[in-house]
Amino acid sequence: MENKIHLAIIGGGAAGLMAAVTAAKLCKQTKKIAVFEGISRVGKKLLATGNGRCNLTNTRVGMNHYHGDERYIETILRTYPPQRIIQYFKDLGLICREETEGRVYPYSLQASSVLDILRLNAEELMVKILCNCPIKNIRAADGVFYLQNAEQQVFIADRVILATGGKTALPLDSPDNGHALAEKLGHKVTPLYPALTILKTQPEDVKSLSGIRSRVSAVLKCNDKAIRYEKGEIQFTEQGLSGICMFQFARNVAFGIEKRKKMEVILDFMREYTASELVNRLDCAARRFPHLPAFEILNGFINKKVGEFIVKKAVPRAKNILTAELTKIEIMEIANMVKRFSFSCIGVADWKYAQITAGGVALAQLNKSLESRIHKGLYFAGEMLNIDGDCGGYNLHWAWISGITAGKAAAKSLCQKDKARISAT
Ligand SMILES: Cc1cc2nc3c(=O)[nH]c(=O)nc-3n(C[C@H](O)[C@H](O)[C@H](O)COP(=O)(O)OP(=O)(O)OC[C@H]3O[C@@H](n4cnc5c(N)ncnc54)[C@H](O)[C@@H]3O)c2cc1C
Repeated sequence: MENKIHLAIIGGGAAGLMAAVTAAKLCKQTKKIAVFEGISRVGKKLLATGNGRCNLTNTRVGMNHYHGDERYIETILRTYPPQRIIQYFKDLGLICREETEGRVYPYSLQASSVLDILRLNAEELMVKILCNCPIKNIRAADGVFYLQNAEQQVFIADRVILATGGKTALPLDSPDNGHALAEKLGHKVTPLYPALTILKTQPEDVKSLSGIRSRVSAVLKCNDKAIRYEKGEIQFTEQGLSGICMFQFARNVAFGIEKRKKMEVILDFMREYTASELVNRLDCAARRFPHLPAFEILNGFINKKVGEFIVKKAVPRAKNILTAELTKIEIMEIANMVKRFSFSCIGVADWKYAQITAGGVALAQLNKSLESRIHKGLYFAGEMLNIDGDCGGYNLHWAWISGITAGKAAAKSLCQKDKARISAT
């Protein structure tokens, strides 16, 4: 390939491919557009999304589902609501369907359909895709960008979109240097934390429950102050607490632990019942089954193992007595613990378990088109920015809309350059 390019997109993931297709559509094949992908194929992570089904957006998209530098993306979010993204995909040839909680998937329920559609469009629009071509260095000089790959080949680009993703679920051969490239170009990168991942607790707190699932409502407390609420299914693991509602807490837990704050999750295993209703029901159970070992009193209420675990924590002597021997106060202790079981968090699981990176390139140094205020002609998109979304399609939504924004702006500025040249002659 000739080494002079109009638009170079570094990273062939969701954001990079969307940026390439958008720019190529606007430029109507008059510009050389190339995607540089560090590994052997584009869109590898995309295939793993949504358990292979790709939850590509959510009809409930709003500012409240984004974190980090979210105050800078209000305009982009407003410009590209989910319906526009669903239509955008329809125009590219992909039909979508909405499932529970506003989650949108490809109609085929196969993540590969999303990748196929992006690749087919890129091919039709003559976007050059260079795999196994990790960019190791970028230098801005004389109004252009010099990109150097691992084999010391140099490419010269008029415009560059950096879309190298985050640190999560990286393939072994992934370059993982996108943030370093941004820093070298003078951009601030905020600390990176694994997010949407398992919350780690003391192993002895959860080990005996490993593998068990329960429906709960949950409160996250930071230094004893409630900061976030969720409800849904949790899963106990060897490391701690998993499940979507625990994933949503992970970014706060990671930040809090880093700042040495006390982070605690309080679970309510019977959210439809008040503590006093529960006391009455436990009283009835104790009267109905007086000869039952006391630690089994929650049988018929919640998961048996979870129930026994809770009773033994609330009333240690329950191991050796019968339900008839439980005192009124002990019954109240059990009811309170069902409603307010506390787990102290010691951190979050490491990068290989995380779905998303919290932290990244700071948006304060970019304009509304995601163009660098330091180097004109340099744009950013996707997970590498300091934006992370909740679980439910919000992160891919950000990848698409940031890719479209950067791709559109880069293409427009290339076309304006032509117009300026024509009018100057
Ligand atoms: C298991 C899992 C499931 C997920 N499920 C969902 C879901 O259902 N819905 C949702 O909204 N989000 C989901 N996410 C999050 C979503 O996948 C990401 O937010 C999204 O892929 C980010 O897109 P991106 O293009 O910014 O980064 P990526 O998809 O990570 O793409 C970046 C690309 O850049 C390449 N690259 C990096 N550095 C270089 C370099 N120097 N030179 C060349 N190439 C380079 C990488 O190899 C990679 O291909 C999931 C994540 C994981 C890990």
